[in-house]
Amino acid sequence: MSNIIQLLPDNVANQIAAGEVVQRPASVVKELLENAIDAGATEIQLIVKEAGQTLIQVIDNGKGMSTTDARLSLERHATSKIRKAEDLFHLSTMGFRGEALASIVAVAQCEIKTKREEDELGTLIQIEGSETKKQEPCAGEKGTSISVKNLFFNLPARRKFLKSNAVERRHIIDQFERIAIIYPKIRFLFFNDEIKLFHLDPGTLRQRIVAVFGKNYNDRLVPIEEETSLVYLHGFVSKPEFAKKKKDGQFLFVNGRFIKSNYLHHGILAAYSELIPNGVHPSYFIHLECNPESIDVNIHPTKTEIKFEDERSIYAIIRSAVKKALGEHNIAPTIDFNRETVFDDLPQNKSLVQPSIKINSNFNPFESNTDGMSNSNHPNNSFSKTVTKNYQKNWESLINKNTELEQQDLALDDDNDRFSISGQAENQIQKSDLDNTLTENRKDQNRVFQIHGKYILSPIKSGLLVIDQRRAHERVLYERNLKTLALHQGASQKNLFPATFDFSQNDSVLLNELSSELHLLGFEFEEFGDNSFIFRGLPVEVAQENCKELIDEILQSFKENEQNLELKSHVNIAFSLAQKESRCLNKILSNEECTALIDRLFGCENPHTTVSGKSIISTLSLDELNSKFT
Ligand code: ADP
Ligand code: MG
Repeated sequence: MSNIIQLLPDNVANQIAAGEVVQRPASVVKELLENAIDAGATEIQLIVKEAGQTLIQVIDNGKGMSTTDARLSLERHATSKIRKAEDLFHLSTMGFRGEALASIVAVAQCEIKTKREEDELGTLIQIEGSETKKQEPCAGEKGTSISVKNLFFNLPARRKFLKSNAVERRHIIDQFERIAIIYPKIRFLFFNDEIKLFHLDPGTLRQRIVAVFGKNYNDRLVPIEEETSLVYLHGFVSKPEFAKKKKDGQFLFVNGRFIKSNYLHHGILAAYSELIPNGVHPSYFIHLECNPESIDVNIHPTKTEIKFEDERSIYAIIRSAVKKALGEHNIAPTIDFNRETVFDDLPQNKSLVQPSIKINSNFNPFESNTDGMSNSNHPNNSFSKTVTKNYQKNWESLINKNTELEQQDLALDDDNDRFSISGQAENQIQKSDLDNTLTENRKDQNRVFQIHGKYILSPIKSGLLVIDQRRAHERVLYERNLKTLALHQGASQKNLFPATFDFSQNDSVLLNELSSELHLLGFEFEEFGDNSFIFRGLPVEVAQENCKELIDEILQSFKENEQNLELKSHVNIAFSLAQKESRCLNKILSNEECTALIDRLFGCENPHTTVSGKSIISTLSLDELNSKFT
């Protein structure tokens, strides 16, 4: 029998290798950006069309390639970065395997233009599925531009496996952020479907984080820095009070490379234990710089997992550095964080205090209500105490006509609700006086009038209380939603027949982004192909609604609120749902319903203003009434 083993032709071998390196458009983005960085670029442009399916182009002003190098760079195992096996242990570049370009050109239609400073003319190469179509000299600036068109054009099965454009775009943005953050000295421009998504000017790490994640990060970050013989660790971690439901904003880098490590992630979380409740996550941007000899990057084709020689020590160092940073933040909360290395100013041997945050995870604004909306299965609980405290405090402020002051005080906390639920201004009246006044007001409050299905009036000692019914509902439902998010208590009602709906590209990106919050609130859905979603359940309170309209309205409100009020996403979604729900509650209410609403409103943290800052309550004093009859 003749021999049957054959060497695979190069293009087939390259396609197989491409399976490991090029899983999706985002992998191409990563490899091209890394090459541009290795080439010493100070400015890098990323151009993406249709989530990378039609075009991914990276233009850099790095050192460029000679004609021979440009040809060679497309071969497998062709690299300028290592020469011998030992070099693997002294890596100072992102790439070294010499297989990225070979893999990319095996599965796409590519054009490479490159020129070195010293050459008069550059080189242009067109190559499709590893087959060179054109090579010629070309004019141009120093640097390299690589365009990757129609990814997987020759592998229809792989193309079919790609997720929706929204999902692939998200992956691309993630990859871009992972690189852009840790190279703040490099200018990055990112055009997505001809729209400039990012323009990042050179700056410090803090400036880069803020440029990528938004201005509100500036107040959230605590610098962290530690130098040991094993590793130099620096970066930022988020203050515990800004921990989020979403796990985004968690970045660990080793020698300029984004890495994933559950073990070290755990070390960081361990430093936050007792500072944040379960289910919320801190953000961190931590760079570990160590001797390349002490790590092995070569254990994973995409190099996102690495092996440390002494992982346990690194774990301990990270944990204690984060703890120290949080402790110092707590003793010196007003230090100027715009400086990069604030630690220099602090006394070295000052004893550190563990920061502490009080969270009343038992908060339930509806404990005192009787309409079945409450979740009152906590027998001997502190819920009712909190509500009573709010109730007393709120009545008191009304009675004392301190409303304005209190409003300022309370309105502040919309942004921080989850953490400030129990920590508001204290009673200032003698308690016995207050109790008497309250009893009297409660009696009066039972006399309520509703006018035009819009306002609720109730006599109080000093005159007349006027409540905007819709806004009151909105506030009550908003605080309930926030609590549901904080305590994971959303109840969902299963639809009898699951329904599938199509959404615009933008809305499906948004639905994916908000999916964890929406699930917590009781929406049950999953993505089902290109921009369509299958809904299986809705929150019990809105289960009767037309599902598509409901979701559209909530997303619309969310977008408007995002533009008009700078709300955190969990606050925004809680508010958007409350806005939608309260619109349906503008109707004639029974006396009992009116009283229940007033009770619930006064059990709120802030009964005075809506999230958007509008008044919910107004009082007409006896004097004002009298003055109308003089
Ligand atoms: P690796 O980065 O692992 O060496 P690649 O396939 O990504 O392998 O790149 C092969 C070689 O092509 C690199 O070693 C480098 O010499 C060259 N190269 C790739 N991209 C660029 C670029 N943007 N500018 C200059 N040289 C580049
Ligand atoms: Mg490379």
